[in-house]
Amino acid sequence: MDTRISGTTKLFGIIGTPVDRAGSPAMYNFCFDYYGLDCVYLAFDCREDQVKDTLDAAKRLQIRGLNVTMPCKREAARQVDRLSPAARFTGAVNTIVNEDGILTGHITDGIGFLSDLMDHGHTVTGKDIVLMGTGGAASAILTQCALEGAASVTIFNRSREGLEKARAIGDALAADGVSCRMEYRLLTDPDLLHRTVRKASILINATPVGMAPGGEGRSLITDMSVFHRDLVVYDVICQPETTRLMEDALQNGCRKENVLGGRGMLLWQAAEAFRLYTGLPMPVKELKAFLAGKS
Ligand code: NAP
Repeated sequence: MDTRISGTTKLFGIIGTPVDRAGSPAMYNFCFDYYGLDCVYLAFDCREDQVKDTLDAAKRLQIRGLNVTMPCKREAARQVDRLSPAARFTGAVNTIVNEDGILTGHITDGIGFLSDLMDHGHTVTGKDIVLMGTGGAASAILTQCALEGAASVTIFNRSREGLEKARAIGDALAADGVSCRMEYRLLTDPDLLHRTVRKASILINATPVGMAPGGEGRSLITDMSVFHRDLVVYDVICQPETTRLMEDALQNGCRKENVLGGRGMLLWQAAEAFRLYTGLPMPVKELKAFLAGKS
């Protein structure tokens, strides 16, 4: 790699903290190598209060693109010059493109989720969806589902504050003419959750419940009768690869091809960022083989 770095090499990277174990440098550098692009991707540790200085430096150093991870996504949305429509609705940014010193913030998580669904033969258009969670991942998914023509999204969340944030996104989408029925419910009533899932086509977990380390074996769905052949179950969690929710769905009637975990979303959100950076499609098949060889 170092033999190809020259005076014209373009710099990309990821900001957030911690980033020392981030998978994105390996992924993007593989893709740059694949196309023979004169680009390199590094990880930069950055706290939330350092985002402004970091983005000023990115302009000064002509860093061409930055991915943004926890805890900097909201502050990055406040500091960039422009926002994509999805980033404006969600108030968060995970990809920044630097065009001649103008920084545009995008959020690619929602597109990543949708692309992975489509890669598995599913769409959200016209569907009734249950979404658990209202954090960063959930907000991006909610926005993209609405923009993509979902019939309804019923949002369940633990805190009232989170539900109010989701309602603000729903109201902003409606004010922009996006037509999608949205309902906001607390997770305190498991019967209501289960009844709503029974009538839905797609169930999405966008909370960390079930995530390793520590949360393995947990799921917000405790009534196994909600699962059926045609229900699509999507858990955004990447670790473990198969969560308790997914295991329960598989063991209680859902079809294997309808039960999806978060790794596909992670890959496809990166693919969208790569497209924004380079205008090229990410070599997803080759990257999957490369990543499988690394694990
Ligand atoms: P976040 O912004 O912190 O939001 C967390 C959400 O989960 C909030 O709605 C929170 O509700 C809820 N929650 C947290 N603990 C809970 C519990 N014990 N019971 C019920 N609800 C709970 O986090 P995020 O960035 O959205 O991440 C959420 C999950 O998505 C994580 O597992 C993360 O790794 C994963 N993720 C995956 C991808 C991907 O590409 N696959 C991308 C981004 C994130 P309150 O409002 O009550 O706090």
